[in-house]
Amino acid sequence: MSERLLVRGARQLLTLRGPQGPRRGPALKDLGIVVDGAVLIHEGKVQAVGPASRVENLADARKAREIDAAGMVVMPGFVDSHTHLVFAASRLADYEMRIEGRSYAEIAAAGGGILSSVQAVRASSSYKLEERARTAMAGMARHGTTTVEVKSGYGLNTKTEMKMLRVAGAMDGKPLDVVPTLLGAHVVPPEFAGRPDDYIENLCVDCIPRVARRKLARFADVYCDENAFSVEQSRRYLLAARRAGLGLKLHASQFANLGGVQLGVELGAVSVDHLENVGPAEVLALAGSETIATLLPGSVFHLASRRYAPARRLIYGGAAVALATDFNPGTSPTYSMQMILSLACTEMGMTPAESIAAATINAAHALRTSATVGSLEAGKQADMILLKLADYRELPYYFGVNHVAATIKQGKVIYQEKEADSI
Ligand SMILES: [Zn+2]
Repeated sequence: MSERLLVRGARQLLTLRGPQGPRRGPALKDLGIVVDGAVLIHEGKVQAVGPASRVENLADARKAREIDAAGMVVMPGFVDSHTHLVFAASRLADYEMRIEGRSYAEIAAAGGGILSSVQAVRASSSYKLEERARTAMAGMARHGTTTVEVKSGYGLNTKTEMKMLRVAGAMDGKPLDVVPTLLGAHVVPPEFAGRPDDYIENLCVDCIPRVARRKLARFADVYCDENAFSVEQSRRYLLAARRAGLGLKLHASQFANLGGVQLGVELGAVSVDHLENVGPAEVLALAGSETIATLLPGSVFHLASRRYAPARRLIYGGAAVALATDFNPGTSPTYSMQMILSLACTEMGMTPAESIAAATINAAHALRTSATVGSLEAGKQADMILLKLADYRELPYYFGVNHVAATIKQGKVIYQEKEADSI
């Protein structure tokens, strides 16, 4: 790791440098672009970043191994701050039935829906879960993600939730940084059907303390929505999680606007995610808070609901917006942050610059990792991607295409496109 690397020749180097806090309003558009830039890397961290004329003339740069980024866009690796990466099987039958016009109830009656994912994960070995997740993680690295949050939530009993979190933890650093989140309160499991309060109680007295004691998760997340948990149930769960030392996250206002956003802001949640159905009161609450508004357009696209979160109103209103894939087998089977940026721009009216800041520095804030990742600044981790683009706006513009030529994680090249790949 003591080897020095010099990434040189970047036509546009997007540093995302800037003030400490999350980016809001007009600041979300400021990518800190250096034209003809270079990055010097030492021991996995950024040693120097800036114009090539300065960085390449440093004494240390002359001894460094060079990585040629000639003519490319170089930017921080994506921080995917909301995924359900650990699962046992795809949900192809659900997808097909939905296309054929069947209802959610019909799909569930046919053995599909989220409970089919729960059954599959409970029946699966840790080895099998990890094998599948590793394949997806390699895909994420290929598509430019360098840090990923991973939720449990397909176990819905303490034993299986812990199994999922152990799988997530085992993947940390291989090669992406993994931030594990307990999503015990995803839906009510069959064993507690009709008794959601009893399930929440079980999570508060058993699952949360055990997960926290073993340090298996950094955050706890709850699905505060219709067909999941009420605001009061969510509050009990989140308070127990906070007492146990976990940071807080919520799935909120995806289908109904119950008040989960206000609850998250009140309890100091690090993020509230989805927000397809928020109104002016929620925008106002978020604008006055440190809570990140994480938008997940992949699930809106895949479910064809056409009801995207009001990104423009959130940005104009002063909320700090982030973007994530929500990678999961039921509603958002993509791990491509590039595709998410295309959706954010085309369907939600975010500009290319805003979408990039939302997927890097603001997403890092949504995981409390902004001190180490999310921008290219001296002292931070050397997590970056080289894109086969001459202008960063091409990133969302050419949609559904992988633009990544190389992914660098803590100064190591973890993915490099081979000649044959690019044909
Ligand atoms: Zn989710």
